[in-house]
Amino acid sequence: MTFDDLNLHEKILKAVKEQGYTQPTPIQAKAIPLVLEGKDVLAGAQTGTGKTAGFSLPMLELMMKKDIKKGRHQVRSLVLTPTRELAAQVGEDIATYSKYLPFTSAVVFGGVGINPQITKIKKGVDILVATPGRLLDLVGQGKLDLSCVEFFVLDEADRMLDMGFIHDIKKVLAILPPYKQNLLFSATFSDEIKKLADKLLNNPTLIEVAKRNQSADNISQVVYPVDKNRKQELLSHLIRKENWQQVLVFTRTKHGANRLVKELIRDDINSAAIHGNKSQTARTKALADFKDKTIAVLVATDIAARGIDIDQLPHVVNYELPNISEDYVHRIGRTGRAGNSGEAISIVCVDELDYLKNIEKLIKKPIKKIHENGFDIDPNIKAQPIQNGRGGGQRGGRGNSQGRNQNRNQKNFGGRGNISSRGQRGGGNSQGTANSSRGANRGR
Ligand code: AMP
Repeated sequence: MTFDDLNLHEKILKAVKEQGYTQPTPIQAKAIPLVLEGKDVLAGAQTGTGKTAGFSLPMLELMMKKDIKKGRHQVRSLVLTPTRELAAQVGEDIATYSKYLPFTSAVVFGGVGINPQITKIKKGVDILVATPGRLLDLVGQGKLDLSCVEFFVLDEADRMLDMGFIHDIKKVLAILPPYKQNLLFSATFSDEIKKLADKLLNNPTLIEVAKRNQSADNISQVVYPVDKNRKQELLSHLIRKENWQQVLVFTRTKHGANRLVKELIRDDINSAAIHGNKSQTARTKALADFKDKTIAVLVATDIAARGIDIDQLPHVVNYELPNISEDYVHRIGRTGRAGNSGEAISIVCVDELDYLKNIEKLIKKPIKKIHENGFDIDPNIKAQPIQNGRGGGQRGGRGNSQGRNQNRNQKNFGGRGNISSRGQRGGGNSQGTANSSRGANRGR
């Protein structure tokens, strides 16, 4: 199938072709015809699958078809996203795809001044991309009229619920007109999501691509076992040795992100952190510097990283494994996008073996272990509990978590036999990394 088969307006096709897209991605091939038919859609797809164009292109096509008085702008399409970065990204994509169309679009989110957004809305906006809090603020202040919304997209609904936006979402739904076309995108379908879908969608068609729990084939995944107090040293070493120019590094905490950036800068590696405690200006600047390769390393927490979309991001590093296994799949999905190959590297200390085991279970395969020369593991170091999902990779670690983890102290990486040495990537997969008792700290 090509884009020409999808019955899209030539001006939309022109913009798409300029992006260098030759073929619709699977989610696009499935979603576009259904949306064009006017159907409500429940879509299982995560970022990186091309879902934004999957809903934006038919949305624009439908907006073109409906006869609206020339020059009159009102919010006809609304896209709700969980994070500012995703909102900005989706807004950018929509602006790109609609560049030859007579529509105006705007992005509104919190953390920045509201007045420029009000000014823009006053001028007239056809397509609005928003995070829930700021949207409700604008409506509450009487600055935004949503009574003409015909097309509504709830993007990354699972993440919205994770972030506690359920009440805001319900308030938004209550404001919107009842008769409109609705799309809901989510990477997972919990009971809560199903309930939300029941409330929002009218006789929806379900489409699903590349389930979240299967990590993409085009991403090579490796684990570097290392002692906790040498994680940063190993990261700096790998960045230099492999000459990585653009690497996204994940930490579990904001504090950990800040500390790592300081240490990398001390090693003369240009880096910046992006997380919720940073001002929007700082986040935008860090992202822009990373995109244009002014900085080589962007250190992010899970939530801040949502919506970061950089074509061909070659390397993602888990400096600390996430305590939620699904977040691992989300993280590594930042690389290997839209058919490109990518590499996901996890720097793992003995404390994190339970997390690693759970991740391998989720992705249904062991991850190759590489032992980097000069970074031998000290077998005398015993696992320390990671409290509340925090602490791995942080020097000194944290306190004990109520003695639930006694048996973890026995753990190790299962000896060198399982590990390919000297940074050669050819070795076979290692299995049975942790002779572990199962344990604690898996929940949020
Ligand atoms: P998304 O899942 O919407 O965040 O899109 C992921 C990435 O894929 C973005 O960088 C898009 O620009 C890119 N993309 C979207 N559709 C296509 C396509 N049909 N062919 C190639 N790249 C695409």
